[in-house]
Amino acid sequence: MFMSRRRFLTAAAAGSALVVLGTQQATSPPRRARWFLFGTLVDVELIEPAGHDATPVLALLAERLQRLHVDWHAWKPGRLGDLNRALVGGLSYVAEPSLLALVRDAQSLSQRCGGLFNPAIGGLIGLWGFHRDEMLAGSIPSRDAIERLLEADVTPDALTFNGDTVRSQNPAVQLDLGAYAKGYALDLAQTLLHDHGFADAVVNAGGDLVASGRGPGRPWHIGIRHPSGRGTLALIETAGREAVVTSGNYERYRVLDGRRYAHILDPRTGWPAEAVASATVVCADAALADAASTAISVAGEQWPDVAVAFGIDQAMVVTADGRVQFTRAMYERVDPVNLRARAVSVIA
Ligand code: ADP
Ligand code: MG
Repeated sequence: MFMSRRRFLTAAAAGSALVVLGTQQATSPPRRARWFLFGTLVDVELIEPAGHDATPVLALLAERLQRLHVDWHAWKPGRLGDLNRALVGGLSYVAEPSLLALVRDAQSLSQRCGGLFNPAIGGLIGLWGFHRDEMLAGSIPSRDAIERLLEADVTPDALTFNGDTVRSQNPAVQLDLGAYAKGYALDLAQTLLHDHGFADAVVNAGGDLVASGRGPGRPWHIGIRHPSGRGTLALIETAGREAVVTSGNYERYRVLDGRRYAHILDPRTGWPAEAVASATVVCADAALADAASTAISVAGEQWPDVAVAFGIDQAMVVTADGRVQFTRAMYERVDPVNLRARAVSVIA
């Protein structure tokens, strides 16, 4: 059913955490497009039904995603930057509908996991130097500065909504939607393709993806790569519309005072979360999967509680010390490629 392991690994080596595999018995080759957005490569692969040219919808999609990329950027000029400036000043900000929906949803998802996913910690993320394109080596922020931000007790609960306006009761709230906006954009992208008659598609943003329908002649096959970047742990065959999203502390990190520190922060301590190397979530909704995979990465050994809080039944975690942990539903559906020599357990 799946392609040979050797062929798969070749495909996986070129890509990111999750890889959409090529096809074996393609009826007609899928249509492809690629853009650099959200700090990563966004790849679209879709099947064009007979007589349907995807060129116009791909152009429309590129334009929409580009706009969201600018609007939701955490540290470059754009609508989120405008909103953050208003929040510091205690001012009301009239938010454009998609930003308003994004922020509202982020608030409620944060509440569901007790703030482990906390989109209000932009100040802390900036302090650790992750509000830059290049991950330069440097020094750990001062403990005082971290402490001050923790004492400011930033959570999205401080946001209040009135019609289309947002304001914050806490001037230290700075929104960074980096753990969530990509998933949200993937959902919007799939919906756009679907609404234009393209029901068989994969939209893949650097390994976070939403698949719908089927690939040419067979289901879409997704590979989950080992967080070390070497080898593939497991394969998933998607059915219908499904998001497969991974949060990892292996791709974006800085070397500070000679040691690696990853970009997912624990809002309880103000320091990078280190217990989980990668967390993969499968569910219908990429935005939910994105927020949940980040919260699971922060939760460490308590991650099954977070999965339950989000209503997620399919998740896989690779711990920092190399153990691979599954929920039962995830374990039952993956095709293990490279799990034999590893400490594998079904813990939820
Ligand atoms: P990836 O970008 O690898 O898919 P995530 O979805 O987990 O990973 O997003 C990580 C980004 O989210 C960070 O770069 C930062 O901008 C932001 N972030 C870091 N820690 C948190 C957190 N605890 N809650 C919310 N956002 C976070
Ligand atoms: Mg995430």
